[in-house]
Amino acid sequence: MPDTAPINAPLRSGDDYIASLRGRGLTVWLGGEQVDEPVDHPVIRPSINALAKTYDLAVAHPELASVVSPFTGERVSRFLHVCLSAEDLVKQNKMQRRLGQLTGTCFQRCVGMDAFNALYSVTFDMDADAGTDYHARLKAFLTTMHRGNFVVGGAMTDMKGDRGKPPHQQADPDLYVHVTRRTDDGVYISGAKAHQTGCINSHWMVVMPGQRLGDADKDFAICGAVPVTAEGITYIYGRQSCDSRAMEGGSIDVGNANYGGQEAMVIFDEVFIPNEHIFMDGEVGHAATLVQRFTTYHRRSYVCKTGLGDALCGAAAQIAEMNGADKAKHVQDKLVEITHLNETIYGTGIASSYQGHATDSGAYICDDMLANVCKHHVTKLPYEIARLSQDLAGGLVATMPSEADLNHPEIGKLLRKYLKGRDDFDTVERMRILRLIENLTMGRNAVGYLTESMHGAGSPQAQRIEIGRAMQLEYKKRLARALSGVEAECDPSEVAEEMSGYMARVFKLPTA
Ligand code: SF4
Ligand code: FE
Repeated sequence: MPDTAPINAPLRSGDDYIASLRGRGLTVWLGGEQVDEPVDHPVIRPSINALAKTYDLAVAHPELASVVSPFTGERVSRFLHVCLSAEDLVKQNKMQRRLGQLTGTCFQRCVGMDAFNALYSVTFDMDADAGTDYHARLKAFLTTMHRGNFVVGGAMTDMKGDRGKPPHQQADPDLYVHVTRRTDDGVYISGAKAHQTGCINSHWMVVMPGQRLGDADKDFAICGAVPVTAEGITYIYGRQSCDSRAMEGGSIDVGNANYGGQEAMVIFDEVFIPNEHIFMDGEVGHAATLVQRFTTYHRRSYVCKTGLGDALCGAAAQIAEMNGADKAKHVQDKLVEITHLNETIYGTGIASSYQGHATDSGAYICDDMLANVCKHHVTKLPYEIARLSQDLAGGLVATMPSEADLNHPEIGKLLRKYLKGRDDFDTVERMRILRLIENLTMGRNAVGYLTESMHGAGSPQAQRIEIGRAMQLEYKKRLARALSGVEAECDPSEVAEEMSGYMARVFKLPTA
């Protein structure tokens, strides 16, 4: 019998979590004004609701969204778990798809999860190389996070300035987060991270380097955990398409009545990280490995978008029915195409997890080739799904009058009359479905469904580079030479080196 005892931590439900965010005194700017209390801000609140759903899902379905912590023996969110089997990786993906279905947006909790999963093996390898004690520090940090059942965010993407120059050659060193001074107790960092998912909604964040670094970039090879309330941090909220609709007070024009994503710029001005929370300091050779392992986890985490795709497919089917067009053959075919595209993403992501393998640290990591293929699909297929959904929605998705017009005593009557679809469907419900399609394909959650799909976890070219690195052409050329009679068929053992990567995992049979 699976152990499904409930989470027994101070933060258990979504409401507990939301209460924990109040009164923290963060310096948050939005629209040219400082925000008093993010929890009560109408533009920010939907993103908090989305993250709160990760807590509520763990209460409703502990087997899916929680796990017994190997550090504390207590049940905690699955978002805090270091994967110790391929099954753990697979369950992350199932949880992500479900949360995508329930929120229709980015629920913001996977970056931190993927960051400390990557760090778990990287700190282990660094300690083995150089006799440091980063791995023990990380385990102690994770134990604290598990005790509180906290939200841990991840901060990787630097502002980058002139992309043609490495960090140490930038005219302004703050364009990459870096160490400004060191004391016996720790380090101080300055700089900024761009488009940080869920940063204001987290309790802690893990700051990491975002790219390969050279010997001259030692001060930029810094990784550590900071509370989001740390002195010296300023958050500037990212503008989203149609976000001001949340200020209008209604529930129709926002499209998604409760949920939204969150990205902000995080500026660090001499922020202190004590030694016990530093997990890398100057080990430039390991920075690229950390980025590579993080993106391997995170690129297959993008199966989250198949949950949004499920909701969008449902909206497209629903509006076709409300329009009286659902029996048309081409409509059915477009819904089949949407489903085919969506499951193509899921298939590669879940396969990456099933092909997971153990690192020396004992943590499992998913397959890098399939993770990159998954994310590369995500940079394209949601755009086609969005196009097909707008096709099925009709032009009203872009021209429909506002909720304020609907509520007007004179104009509203006209809208209820003329926006009618099939007699047996309510006009306002039809408007709500159209607004949801707008929300996901060009409104607020198009940020999450489309642009984040393009650039999150690395822009498309980053995946093509990784796919190119792992495609093992030498092995494939030998297959072709054998089939065409140029040389004898090769036994896999003769090409052991070439088989050591993706191909080796393709043929590895699951162990019981
Ligand atoms: Fe998680 Fe997806 Fe949001 Fe990334 S984009 S944090 S994978 S929900
Ligand atoms: Fe993301």
